[in-house]
Amino acid sequence: MKVLKFGGTSVGSAAAINQVISIIGNSVKKGENPIVVVSAFKGITNLLLEAGSYAAKSSQPENAAYNKIIEIHSEVIRDLIPPKFINSVMIEIIPLFTQLKDLLYGIHLLQEFSPKSSDWLVSFGERLSARIISQALSVNGIEAQYFDSRDVIITDNSFGSAKVDFDKTNKFIWEKLSSNENIQVVTGFISKSESGETTTLGRGGSDYTASIIGAALKVDEIEIWTDVDGFMTADPGLVPGAVPIDSLTYDEAFELTHYGANVVYPPTVKPACHALVPIVIRNTFNPGFLGTVIKESGSTGNINITGVTLLTDLVLLKLEGNEFTDSLGVTGRVYSLLARNKVEVVLASQASAGNSISLCIHSDRALEIKAKIEEELRYELHFGQIKSLGFEQEVSLIAVITENLRNNSTIPGRIFDSLGRNGVDILSIAQGASMLNLSLVVSKTDEVKALNVIHDAFVSDEDRHKDNAEATALCNCGLRYVAMG
Ligand code: ADP
Ligand code: ASP
Ligand code: MG
Repeated sequence: MKVLKFGGTSVGSAAAINQVISIIGNSVKKGENPIVVVSAFKGITNLLLEAGSYAAKSSQPENAAYNKIIEIHSEVIRDLIPPKFINSVMIEIIPLFTQLKDLLYGIHLLQEFSPKSSDWLVSFGERLSARIISQALSVNGIEAQYFDSRDVIITDNSFGSAKVDFDKTNKFIWEKLSSNENIQVVTGFISKSESGETTTLGRGGSDYTASIIGAALKVDEIEIWTDVDGFMTADPGLVPGAVPIDSLTYDEAFELTHYGANVVYPPTVKPACHALVPIVIRNTFNPGFLGTVIKESGSTGNINITGVTLLTDLVLLKLEGNEFTDSLGVTGRVYSLLARNKVEVVLASQASAGNSISLCIHSDRALEIKAKIEEELRYELHFGQIKSLGFEQEVSLIAVITENLRNNSTIPGRIFDSLGRNGVDILSIAQGASMLNLSLVVSKTDEVKALNVIHDAFVSDEDRHKDNAEATALCNCGLRYVAMG
């Protein structure tokens, strides 16, 4: 059995959905017994959020975003479903359009768009797409059924990014999804709280849905179908020289996704890793290419780094004490304060005999947190035990991730050399204890340059050609699990 997940980029149009149908058809022919997980059509989640915000503020409930949502779905149905089946499809879809309109009216009346109503509103994206795709499969001769993930994925009620109750969820998945005659087309991203409210797993959460289901059923593979040739050495939208990676370990994938490689939603790696189910990233628009497999061992090995990632919208908090500062006490208090306020520290570094700490955090709450640290350390600041609490805005974090950091001492030198030769200043540095990740903070204005020069110091033109040739050869032989290098 396999789980095949298709993201918004793969279900953006009738042509793309036809491609998805052919991939599912091939999987059925090969006897893979797939469970299909789908995202909302491309752009629909954002349009739903726009429609909700508008309804809460304006003098009328319906708006351009709502009209666009109806138009996009109607057009896809028209292009995808033969005329003689349109009515039977619309019987399922029209009630959803009506409920959506009613909900926007409710938001408008209350003039309130809470996280709870937002989750209910965005759930329409996946509910519409899973219904349309299951109908399209059936009219193409692949018997399929709509399956609402809220019937199996149970969470707490932290709306917007709910936490999964794995005991209940695994039990329900086993009961309801382990043996079905028809293909189940499951809504990604959405879930249900203990008390029955609709929740969501966080933006990009359909990948996580696929992993939760695949891990619970211990399937042979979780395939994540998207619009690129796999996990690449960097975001191909920012680094033109990025190449697909043949194979990654779960640990590397975990680091890469947490540090900005948003081809996979970060929590996705864990359930698959615990169940030892491989995750495979593949391109819907290049289905002959084998993509990237993420598994327990066997990093790609043909290049010294696995990937370079970028995290943006960060600030660097810089706390500088003097030699008499009680550095242990101050550090402890700052970390406790951040923990109490649920602030994630994406990089921390501490050096010097006095007390000099740099902390990189997301910019959205930076001002609030700086004020809280000032309040916490007001005594030390007043009496000069802390020289300054500085604040560097508009910084970005570049992470170089590889299992090879453990055994290749030339890697740091090559990184610093490439930045030095290209005039990029490093504002802070840290290397994770896992020896998988070397992170650098640079000014936002340098982020793309830094990403490209570090990447190109490791991935040469020769690697690019070699990768293409080897990948094509492997593809032609139908091989995947071969360590390259
Ligand atoms: P989907 O709609 O299929 O979920 P996403 O937009 O969430 O697709 O993810 C695919 C995108 O992730 C790619 O188009 C690419 O721009 C981006 N991306 C960022 N980092 C990487 C990376 N290291 N490798 C591949 N793609 C990446
Ligand atoms: N539709 C959701 C989003 O846009 C979930 C997903 O695409 O994975 O975030
Ligand atoms: Mg995605």
